Amino acid sequence: MSSWKDNLRTIEPYVPGEQPDLPDMIKLNTNENPYPPSPKVQEVLDQYDINALRLYPDPNSQHLVDAIAEYNGLNSDQVFVGVGSDDVLAIAFMTFFNSKKPILFPDITYSFYDVWAELFQIPYVQKPLDDHFEFVRSDYYGENGGIVIANPNAPTGVVQELDALRDIIDHNRDVVVIIDEAYVDFSDHSALELIKEYDNVLIVQTYSKSRSLAGMRIGHAMGSAELIAAMNDVRFSYNSYPMTRLSVEIGAAAIRDKAYFEEMRKRVVDTREWTKKELTRLGFTFGDSKTNFIFAKHKTIPGEVFFDELRKKHIFVRRFGNNPRIKDYLRISIGTQKEMEILVQELEKIEKMH
Ligand code: PMP
Repeated sequence: MSSWKDNLRTIEPYVPGEQPDLPDMIKLNTNENPYPPSPKVQEVLDQYDINALRLYPDPNSQHLVDAIAEYNGLNSDQVFVGVGSDDVLAIAFMTFFNSKKPILFPDITYSFYDVWAELFQIPYVQKPLDDHFEFVRSDYYGENGGIVIANPNAPTGVVQELDALRDIIDHNRDVVVIIDEAYVDFSDHSALELIKEYDNVLIVQTYSKSRSLAGMRIGHAMGSAELIAAMNDVRFSYNSYPMTRLSVEIGAAAIRDKAYFEEMRKRVVDTREWTKKELTRLGFTFGDSKTNFIFAKHKTIPGEVFFDELRKKHIFVRRFGNNPRIKDYLRISIGTQKEMEILVQELEKIEKMH
């Protein structure tokens, strides 16, 4: 007897960090920004005429696309926008990874990549990072169906220099190379300039981290006009109006406020560097994070102990207990300076107890 259950797409979904809602919590588990969005966002909301919400939004999200293009010195046909970079990445996977050859990405990276590959039935191979969480470049030289690189990588925080990326791309001119720059604004450089040289490189960025707009869901991709047109064809084949009217206007206002962005970014980076010194003092080791989080392991105390004890104090960090290579690491998002001072005090207490 046949059953509808025989035809289900069964999949183990990606599990995001928890979103507890406790008044006294210190939430350092999903790499959100501890500071509010630009005051220009408040202005948009204050002046918004809700009557506009009767109408469907612009399918092309042109105001937002144009603002991102202008900010990055690109033409508007080189910019794609989506509902967070998760949406952008998922569409990129669907659009570009249709070969029978496996796509490649590291064993330790954003753990949504393998979920999308499973969902869209894309073959994939995960290449182990070396013991310092660095890419082994030669692993990416062979034939493949495409490449995804988070740079800086997550959850390690480690960044690849442009010449390493260039080398990988030079060996892969016949497939699309996606560079996921979710955390790039906390590092020293973007690979954006590579899209001028390579028509097969797609740079993906997000408003969720450096622009404090995780709740608004805005992400974008930049690449050759051909790549962007192909993504738009796929996107318009299942949803004509992905971006709300509000997210378009809020996104455009936020990206134009460069001064505020620079100030907030500097605050997060300064606190990150302070936290690194404190973690070292407490006996943690970590790669040189260029993100808004630190991926750290204590020299003697298991990660689970810190995770559980912090949780009791309503301090939330992230741990990837299912992956034996990184089970003792904590991924600690950078909060306000005050929040990080409390975190350090609590870590110190836990260390003394064990
Ligand atoms: N890429 C990486 C590497 C991430 O860590 C995240 C955040 N979970 C994303 C993409 C997606 O972010 P968003 O959908 O909020 O833009």
